[in-house]
Formats: sequence, C-alpha cells, structure tokens
Amino acid sequence: MSKNRASEILKRLRASIPNPAVELKHSSPFELVIATILSAQCTDERVNQVTPLLFQRWPDPTALAQALPEEVEEVVRPTGFYRNKAKSIQACSRHLVERFRSTVPETMEELTSLPGVGRKTANLILGECFGKPGIIVDTHVGRVARRLQLTAKQEAEEVEKDLQKLLPKKDWSQGSSRLLLHGRYVCLAKKPRCPDCCLASLCPSAFSPGVLPPH
Ligand code: SF4
Repeated sequence: MSKNRASEILKRLRASIPNPAVELKHSSPFELVIATILSAQCTDERVNQVTPLLFQRWPDPTALAQALPEEVEEVVRPTGFYRNKAKSIQACSRHLVERFRSTVPETMEELTSLPGVGRKTANLILGECFGKPGIIVDTHVGRVARRLQLTAKQEAEEVEKDLQKLLPKKDWSQGSSRLLLHGRYVCLAKKPRCPDCCLASLCPSAFSPGVLPPH
C-alpha cells in the first residue's frame, strides 16, 4: 500500500465530505466523553435524543457523579445496556472529579484511565476537543480500511498503527472521521454502495462479489 494511494483516498474523501463533523451533539469535552460512552452499540441519533435531558439535569461531572443511579439509568435507558452505561458514566464522572479536578484531560494516557474510555473515544476527544492528532478506529473505519486494503488487521489498535504509518499526522483526526462517515453512509457493512463511491477506482474490493466481509 503506497502513501500516494492513501493520499489520493484522503483527497477524494475531503472533496466528498468537506466537514466531517462529529454527529454526537455536545457543547464541551465532558459532554462528548459521556455521549461517546453512551453511543456504544447505539446510534448517534438515539444518543442525541437522550443527552439534552441528561446534561440539563446533571450538567457537570460533580452533578452526574452524585446523581441517584436509578435516575441516571432511567434517563439513559433508550440507549440500551442502560445499567452498565449509567454505571460507566457515573464512574467516569467520579474519576474526573477526583483525579482531574472535573476537567477532561488532554493526553491519551490520562483519557484512557477514565472508566469507559478506550483508545477510540480518546482519539475522538483529542482531535475534536483539543486539536491533537488521533486516529479513531471504530467498526466503520476498520471495515473501510480493510476493504481499501489500507490494512489487513482486525484488531482496532493494529488498524490504528497501520493507518498511522500511511496517513500524515495532520490528517489523522479528520481523515479517520471521514473514513468513519464514509463507512456509515457509503461503504455499508452488508451492501456497500460501490456505484456511488468516490473511491471505487482506487478500491481493490469495489464491485466485487469478494468485497471483504464486514468484520
Ligand atoms: S468501492 Fe465499495 S467496497 Fe470500496 S470503499 Fe467504496 S463502497 Fe467500499
């Protein structure tokens, strides 16, 4: 895989998705951390229906950490796995209060020390909130990267390493956001929309019955 092909892929995605905005609504790093934890196995749309009330009732880490667990569970219930998610966002809030003076930290190491926050979320926060380079690897990014043969790996961290080698650091955040949105809307898991895809002429899996399996 040449860096030239990767660069052409990024160029086309830049034209196709000029503004790769995060679809989870948020007005602070804290809100984005919590919304991202809630988005596990749930659509962003559904999370966006829940978070306005959540942040209205408990607007900061202290408030959320001190809330009654049953009340938090009730609010986040529509996002699924609500007991675990309620536990996770309250533990994360507590950690923020106790270790980081209620401020979301700005390094990978500190971010991933927060309960419920893995590298995917940390990279998202780094890029979106702090303008620091981070490659987000979720299920969409992994699938698209494999179909484009930017990587052959399955493990998110390994995919991240391969993409780090191929993409210029300045493109890590927005480039991976574009791959994510491309996977969400064009390179769909079950039926990739190859005829509509701006990357088709560069993609080894295009129009192929052998389009790589989704995972
Ligand atoms: S050509 Fe098809 S398989 Fe390749 S990236 Fe586009 S939608 Fe995905």
